[in-house]
Amino acid sequence: MPGYRCESCGYEIKTDEREEPRGCPICRGRLLESNVSGDWDEAVCKSCERKFKYPKGTTPYKCPWCDYTFETTLGGYF
Ligand SMILES: [Zn+2]
Ligand SMILES: [Zn+2]
Repeated sequence: MPGYRCESCGYEIKTDEREEPRGCPICRGRLLESNVSGDWDEAVCKSCERKFKYPKGTTPYKCPWCDYTFETTLGGYF
């Protein structure tokens, strides 16, 4: 699964989607392909239904592909 790292803030994600993510889920900065490691949680965008993994304990703000904003609730359910 390819990993990506944000050029601006260093946030990392992984995804199996064919389309490369367009922007960082946190700051909308440019994502560069990168080797990433660690523990991951999975998020599914309610708008475009694409899936990505993000580092456990962090909270993605925007979908990496579209302009959807994740609502965060206790338990990390989106
Ligand atoms: Zn960023
Ligand atoms: Zn989306």
